[in-house]
Amino acid sequence: MIAVERLARLALGDLDDAETAETEEHVLACTACATTLERLVRIGDAARELIRAGGLTFPVTTSLADRMLAEGLVSRSYRLAAGAVVPCTVSATDIYALTVVEADFGGVTRATLTVTLPGLGGSLRMDDIPFDAARGTVSYVARSSLLRQLPSGRVTLELHANDPADRLLGRYFLDHTAFTAT
Ligand SMILES: [Zn+2]
Repeated sequence: MIAVERLARLALGDLDDAETAETEEHVLACTACATTLERLVRIGDAARELIRAGGLTFPVTTSLADRMLAEGLVSRSYRLAAGAVVPCTVSATDIYALTVVEADFGGVTRATLTVTLPGLGGSLRMDDIPFDAARGTVSYVARSSLLRQLPSGRVTLELHANDPADRLLGRYFLDHTAFTAT
């Protein structure tokens, strides 16, 4: 398997000749990567956002999330209400997982989402995360290749408003079951 970012760069024509040849050679022999590449080609320029993001998790707008779901780039999605605990896991063929967090964004101008994962020292922090105030949601996707490396355990999310005083909008939980190759 090739990193999804590299496949996205191939889809966008951003690789140099040597990288293109090497990546295409792999894709010809690998059904999983060929399928991912096809999906990335179909989302077109939106693939640029996936590359720019890098990292384990990155925020997505509702429209990008819908697009990724429609093209099969997101195969698992979780919707979290404040205080609830939702089970989650990851399988061999997943590319991205989507998490949709519900909150009341009344009066909120800026928000920060922090994600604390099991087995990682510290938290991932998404400052100035774009939220959908009308729907009352904020969404991010995580790269499944990295989720497959996580141990089982509790994932804790905290959503804060920064307008400008910091206040907690909600705390959310995922109960992660580690990936097992079968
Ligand atoms: Zn592959």
